[in-house]
Amino acid sequence: MRAIRRFTVRPVLPPALAALGELAGNLRWSWHPETQDVFERVDPSLWHSTGRDPVKLLGSVGRARLDELAGDQGFLHALAAARADLQTYLTEDRWYQRRGPAGGPSSIAYFSPEFGITAVLPQYSGGLGILAGDHLKAASDLGVPIVGVGLLYKHGYFKQSLSREGWQQETYPVLDPDELPISLLREADGSRATISLAMPDGPDLVARVWVASVGRVPLLMLDTDVEENPEHYVGVTDRLYGGNSEHRLRQELLLGIGGVRALRAYSRITGHPAPEVFHTNEGHAGFLGLERIRELTVEDGGPRLDFDTALEVGRASTVFTTHTPVPAGIDRFPRTLVEQYLSDAGPVPGVPVDRILALGAEDYEGGDGSVFNMAVMGFRLAQRANGVSQLHGHVSREMFNGLWPAFDEAEVPIGSITNGVHAPTWVAREVFELAGEVGADPDDLDSFWTAADKIPGRRIWDVKRQLRERLVADARRRMQRSYEKRGHARAELGWIDSALDPDVLTIGFARRAASYKRLTLLLRDPARLKRLLTDPDRPVQLVMAGKAHPADDGGKKLIQAIVQLADDPQVRHRIAYLPNYDIAMAQPLYPGCDVWLNNPLRPYEACGTSGMKAALNGGLNLSILDGWWDEWYDGENGWAIPSADGVEDTDKRDDLEAAALYDLIENEVAPRFYDVDEEGVPTRWLEMLRHTLKSLGPKVLATRMVRDYTQQLYVPASVNARRLNDDYAGAAELAGWKRRVRGGWPGVRVEHVESSGVGDAPEVGAVMSVRAFVALGDLAPGDVAVQLVHGRTTSEDELRDTAVTELALVESYEAGRHRFDGDVTLDHSGAFGYTVRVVPRNELLVSAAELGVVALPA
Ligand SMILES: *Cc1c(COP(=O)(O)O)cnc(C)c1O
Repeated sequence: MRAIRRFTVRPVLPPALAALGELAGNLRWSWHPETQDVFERVDPSLWHSTGRDPVKLLGSVGRARLDELAGDQGFLHALAAARADLQTYLTEDRWYQRRGPAGGPSSIAYFSPEFGITAVLPQYSGGLGILAGDHLKAASDLGVPIVGVGLLYKHGYFKQSLSREGWQQETYPVLDPDELPISLLREADGSRATISLAMPDGPDLVARVWVASVGRVPLLMLDTDVEENPEHYVGVTDRLYGGNSEHRLRQELLLGIGGVRALRAYSRITGHPAPEVFHTNEGHAGFLGLERIRELTVEDGGPRLDFDTALEVGRASTVFTTHTPVPAGIDRFPRTLVEQYLSDAGPVPGVPVDRILALGAEDYEGGDGSVFNMAVMGFRLAQRANGVSQLHGHVSREMFNGLWPAFDEAEVPIGSITNGVHAPTWVAREVFELAGEVGADPDDLDSFWTAADKIPGRRIWDVKRQLRERLVADARRRMQRSYEKRGHARAELGWIDSALDPDVLTIGFARRAASYKRLTLLLRDPARLKRLLTDPDRPVQLVMAGKAHPADDGGKKLIQAIVQLADDPQVRHRIAYLPNYDIAMAQPLYPGCDVWLNNPLRPYEACGTSGMKAALNGGLNLSILDGWWDEWYDGENGWAIPSADGVEDTDKRDDLEAAALYDLIENEVAPRFYDVDEEGVPTRWLEMLRHTLKSLGPKVLATRMVRDYTQQLYVPASVNARRLNDDYAGAAELAGWKRRVRGGWPGVRVEHVESSGVGDAPEVGAVMSVRAFVALGDLAPGDVAVQLVHGRTTSEDELRDTAVTELALVESYEAGRHRFDGDVTLDHSGAFGYTVRVVPRNELLVSAAELGVVALPA
């Protein structure tokens, strides 16, 4: 029988237990084991059967048990302590208040299409969402005043299971918001707060706003499941990354434009300061920039700026992070669709649609005129942009060089901040406790990593075995469920009780089944893999997981290939494919692995974060030199799989890289793992493990990442934004200046360059003097920088590893002509070359390339 209506009865806690509600209402519990202990004490078996979900736990625990707890002094004491700890965490001064930048922004909005915070709030599909979750948590730990903005998807992402044949099956369970750790944003009178967006083809799209408390950080989540909406609007927030272009466009309009409106409502209701900086995590939220332009140009009661001035205000305060070097991963829409939705009948009336279309136009060499590119708009609406590892920064500068065609790749204004992971979420409690045993302070992670040297090898190895054992137990449970679901009878499944072995070298590999991640590289030579798995002396076992996008049959085939191998009775005790990779699976997986494998097609892994989580738990990385590993592999903290980068034939390349991977496992990894001393401890392995903790520990942290964002992007952005926002005169001036410089640029020329001081055979240390005669037309010398660009030269006279020396104005002549002089010391031997160029200069520019114009000698 189906219910005709459902609702959730909220539990009423006895007054003595009110603090349980407070603890459940703040997601800090999800990275605070001591708070989890309190929930576990409420009812250990319910705690486990609800999947460690405080809201569900409190919703299912019986009245009698609650009354009993209300009289249990020991429990009340622990509860009071946990509550006090949370209060302190939420209110005390933390890094941003104590040691952070003076005058930093009072609020920063962080927009993302997905957030992976805890398994019980499944609003993520993979790395992008997990990163966003870790960003919020680390911001909370540091006291950085971020407010998150996202959507609440009724089905989240899908749940993965397998058919008998090993084909991925998707299900979309309904999430009941009343059973989630979120609360509705309400007006002062208790009514539900809503925001709305005009749609070109129907009534307004209405959304309510949920708030999740992520420690000190509020996360606003928009949800269109409200009765004001017609059915097809209710479904706008149905699921993550489902549906056609139009569906996605509606989601992104809601996220960007609706997100700004939700922030305004939140500030109005709670008094939260208005964000001074807007950070968009990947292009999906880019429409937020259009809403800000609308506020500044046409909104009643707004400053009514012109478009260009508003654009400068928006750009100065916007940070854009690009996440994918895979061209197919870039978010693009048919241009006509965007035109239809963003006409005056749409959500930003009064913002000219031709200007909007120009922001997302691929109007560069190789671009497609029929699409609207969200990443391109992202760069144009943000004055500061970054990739997520050094290598990815480099690849992004190459990939988007077309937006600044006059500049070499190195000067494309895209920087990089390497991702990090939130240690309290991802590091096993036992690992923290090990450091505690030798006096490390768990609140001072720096002391924590150096403690690695003081912990006896035997202790480390015992704990690693314990973690492996926990993973094996968890994997067996999951295998049992999966095989039963696939139609196997319990009686056939006795072998699972001894599948995997807590004393065998365990290699983990879990990630989305995107093709560049090459889920099946390790299966390239099945016979060789089988030999590795079943080696009588040095066996290896593999734990694998990862979902394919529902529309990606290629990815599903890769999964099927693994499942079929894992079904093979010869090896099934040594290889497990676990369905439904999510945070709940990931948490015991990383600590339980000895080696974390990553073999993407270089350079398509923008950063990768799972290997960082493994490293923090004493796992060694075995990876292609891509993403973060390219940056931080040091020869001692794991292994680099040689990548056959130059080989065009992908089959050949896979063969070469797979062979190298097998060789490494067989000749380096397994021998080292099994090389144990008389106590049974692999001392050389432990050396690498300790070195991994010490060398990577401080770097891979999300707190390092959020500090970098704060210091390198958020604070400078807020400084610029304040200068422009002060009655907007600065912004109008900047917009006017840009117009003037662009208009006058055709008159800018480097006419003549002379040098002296370095005869025919200069030696290191010689000083070269340069005089440049330039014509600036109608522009003033102060509008430009005249630069001497010098460096090594290639055989084609291309400049490499250049440095820039600014030349100084010496004399001005008639008709806008000027002389600029300067000196440079030749500080290394070899081929040297130089040129002189003119670029726009304004202290409010972040990069000389920002306007995309340059003048070079003819
Ligand atoms: C960390 C994590 C990811 C991202 O891992 P990558 O190495 O970036 O692919 C994806 N899913 C889950 C559940 C994770 O914990």
